Amino acid sequence: MFFGRLFDYGAGVDASGADAYRNDGVGTAVALVNAVTACGADASDEGLREILLAFKYAAAELSAPEASTLRRWARDLRPVFEAEDVTAAVALLNGLLAAVPMQPHISDHGLGPHMHYAVSGAALPDRLRAHTAMGLATLVCEYGVDRLGVCALDDCDRVYADLNRGRRRRYCSRACLNRGGVAAFRARRRTPGP
Ligand SMILES: [Zn+2]
Ligand SMILES: [Zn+2]
Repeated sequence: MFFGRLFDYGAGVDASGADAYRNDGVGTAVALVNAVTACGADASDEGLREILLAFKYAAAELSAPEASTLRRWARDLRPVFEAEDVTAAVALLNGLLAAVPMQPHISDHGLGPHMHYAVSGAALPDRLRAHTAMGLATLVCEYGVDRLGVCALDDCDRVYADLNRGRRRRYCSRACLNRGGVAAFRARRRTPGP
């Protein structure tokens, strides 16, 4: 299975295990977009470094220019989550895929054979750009564009990716899901019965 590990509710930055490293270009994209474009998040160099480490990138030496590149990339990725329909999402994703030098190849480095998409030896920003663009493109092609979205709560602008089979996700996190459920429950109680 392409997505060996579900990006569950409540996962902020959670990418433990080799499967996550292999497959979680989607999770990396969500974490990066939320850190850089959602209100109240931490887009500092240190904040970005923590995300990269959580997703198993060797990021100890992330430079200030590289961090700037990642922030620009996060702002480029966000519209994919906001896309109105599949045509818009595909146009955006094809633009992103064309913007990154890619040379798909199989790598190992102790994790077992898995795909790398960037040119061999590419710098970290290009590896991340290739990984996240391929992750989102594969998700849209295999599962549909409605697997990507922005949190349904009015006061939350975090994005999410829904990798769960047969479940329609609308919130960025367990916390927002609970708040949304309570609001809907109160609204129903205020509505007079027949
Ligand atoms: Zn690898
Ligand atoms: Zn939310």
